[in-house]
Amino acid sequence: MSNAVERIREAVDVKVLLGAYGGRNIKGTGNVRSCCPIHGGDNTTAFVFTQSNKMWYCFTGACGGGDCFDFVMEMDECTFKESAVKLAELFNVVVDWETEEIEENPFREEARAFIEMMMKRSNAHELPVFKMPAGMKLTKINEYRGYSQETIEWWKFRYCTEGELEDRLVIPFEDVDKRLVGITGRAMKGQPNKFMHRPRNLHTGYFLTGLGRNLEFVREAGNSVKIVEGAFDCARWWDNGFKNICAPIGLFFTDEHVLQLYKAGVTTIEIGFDNDEAGRNGIRKAIKKARGKFDIYVLDYPQGKDADDCTREELIQIDANKLLWWEWLEKYGEKLEGEKKK
Ligand SMILES: [Zn+2]
Repeated sequence: MSNAVERIREAVDVKVLLGAYGGRNIKGTGNVRSCCPIHGGDNTTAFVFTQSNKMWYCFTGACGGGDCFDFVMEMDECTFKESAVKLAELFNVVVDWETEEIEENPFREEARAFIEMMMKRSNAHELPVFKMPAGMKLTKINEYRGYSQETIEWWKFRYCTEGELEDRLVIPFEDVDKRLVGITGRAMKGQPNKFMHRPRNLHTGYFLTGLGRNLEFVREAGNSVKIVEGAFDCARWWDNGFKNICAPIGLFFTDEHVLQLYKAGVTTIEIGFDNDEAGRNGIRKAIKKARGKFDIYVLDYPQGKDADDCTREELIQIDANKLLWWEWLEKYGEKLEGEKKK
């Protein structure tokens, strides 16, 4: 085992590390809790970083877990060695980079065991059925962004007129069994917090909304499903006749999503996150996770556009011209393994 890696890990103070990476609401000592700095969001207990072994876990299911090196690799999109260099600098560990062996993380197995333990503890695989918060009044909406009545009804978009989500458009989230697992309220009058999830600790990485609802269309399409950036992109595609569609909450594609797709019998996925830096980043990570498990295509939107801005003709073009995953990587010069784009 590399001596330097061990010394670095020893020197890491997880509280300082979280602070250095913009962690918010950092609380506790042994088990340090905070908002998840990887996926963001305002759930103050989403993330735990354990001082004793320098391991972290994101309870929303969106980010998985790992050790302090994985954490820096996630945050900075860098290789293992780069993460070691950064941590050594941050915690004043003197390392002779010429002679020390630090190509691969010797704590891999330890991290895997930790993640498994945390997964069991969180029980997040069984999302409870969601109950609407008390005092909320929801009304039907007749029009929104030009969606058809049928589309609004299918996705059950509502407007909240009273209660904690007042003056927000309410979007329901369902799991693959079509159970309601949560909602989000989208601000309609410029309120702070554009999206408010309920329950507050919603495990956003554990479902693909629309997958259960649209299963018959997934079958019709040959067990193929489009995975797009959110409920509005779903609605836009659906409105234009592409009904084999679902969305994660955020730009994440997790192990749990893979399981949900397996459960639904999906064999082909078409990833359609926005064509901007964050979206392409999400696509690259999704390809990495899904490779070898599904046939993978990428829906190549015009630069800077998302599905909800596209006309019917544009969507038809995008669908017809979807790229195989390696064609997409070639086109955008993206690399899959660790290395940052030069
Ligand atoms: Zn997270």
